[in-house]
Amino acid sequence: MDFIERFREAVKIPTWWPAGAQPGDAAAEAPLLRFQEFLVARYPAFHQAAERRVLSPYSVVYRWPGADSSAAPNKSGPVLFLAHYDVVPAETEKWTVDPFGAEVKDGFIYGRGTLDMKDTLISLMEAAEQLCAGGFKPRRDIWFAFGGDEERSGSLGAMETAKWFANLKIGFDWILDEGTPIGENQIKGIDSPLALVSIEEKGFLSLDLTVTQKPGHASRPPKVQAVAVLARALCRIAKKPFPFKLVPTVEHFFRQAGKLSGGVQGLVMRHARLLGPLFFRAVASNPTIVSMLRTTVAMTQLEGSAADNVMPSEARAVINLRLLQPWTIERAIAFIKKAINDERVTVSIHGLGADPAPANPAYRDSERPGWKELAAALETAWPGVAMTMFIMVATTDSRHYKELSGSIFRFSPYKLNPADMSGIHGHDERISEENLRRGLQFYTKLLGSI
Ligand SMILES: [Zn+2]
Repeated sequence: MDFIERFREAVKIPTWWPAGAQPGDAAAEAPLLRFQEFLVARYPAFHQAAERRVLSPYSVVYRWPGADSSAAPNKSGPVLFLAHYDVVPAETEKWTVDPFGAEVKDGFIYGRGTLDMKDTLISLMEAAEQLCAGGFKPRRDIWFAFGGDEERSGSLGAMETAKWFANLKIGFDWILDEGTPIGENQIKGIDSPLALVSIEEKGFLSLDLTVTQKPGHASRPPKVQAVAVLARALCRIAKKPFPFKLVPTVEHFFRQAGKLSGGVQGLVMRHARLLGPLFFRAVASNPTIVSMLRTTVAMTQLEGSAADNVMPSEARAVINLRLLQPWTIERAIAFIKKAINDERVTVSIHGLGADPAPANPAYRDSERPGWKELAAALETAWPGVAMTMFIMVATTDSRHYKELSGSIFRFSPYKLNPADMSGIHGHDERISEENLRRGLQFYTKLLGSI
């Protein structure tokens, strides 16, 4: 059985969480445990070399001891690799293949989780297995932490695991998690592929906006209605976006991207800081670019009464913000309240929020612990592909590890175009065999250099 076959086996384990299931639900947790056991069965050499610790169905941790870790514990700090084995559910009827069939077609393997992110997790295992079988021993400790609930909040997996590390006072020189890919045709005008290594991550915040009123019969509506008050608040939010800001990571990215892009566009990108407001105006209609330049507000949910002839006792909207530094949860809430400027609208936090995880300003890119190793691994797997620092606008498990390392990367070593990306959390998710094989080269080189 080869790498691709083992990968297909992993995809076939349906590690999605059924709606409404609660933690402790044995049937829901069974596939997660099955996945943990699958790793033990398929990667014997690695499991001989490493210590395995199952914290829960949502967390399994490995320590692969380094040669000099016992002799000189402070000489070189350990390195941590994060991944998750849960996947989002699939709307089977909208797929052209079985989402858990791992079908091979036209050089691609199809299935939920092929890109997000059993590709990385299995490649890490394959690389470690091959290295162990060949007698390799890392110089310092390598840790793997795999989570089983990243697609919900990571509160049982990554959050508990991070606490576990903190209690043991284990920190890391650097951490690598899933993240931005090698972008291909992602930004108009940049034709050559560009490895986007995210050294910072935007924060996450959902807010409930509620307006209450006396419930009653729709035949006698009050003069001022809750829904109208709420709608006005939403319009005010839309009219007052968060200000643009060019953070150093993004400025650096545009300078690099500008070198790959010709003509006026390249010139504009390279001089984004100098152009200031002119630059912001030029890109304002491009949502991908805007998401890198400001705290965004997405209006995601609206709720009124349950029947067409009943006045709602409460009108509610949910807005989802992605926080660009320096906007913290607290500051963003104040900004939204000020934009609404209406005491009848209650603003409260919905679920778990996270402040932004800015890049550590202590390092320039090539000095950042781990950067050189990533660059060397990239050059092995994808010769000639340029690499730039980037900002992750979505969230990853790594946000729970902020306190454990000053150098966190979010990067997936796969070359993806916008059509590939649409499969992530969408339909017909797939990965090419070429991507898988090059990804394996990447992780093999990377682990072998630690
Ligand atoms: Zn993911």
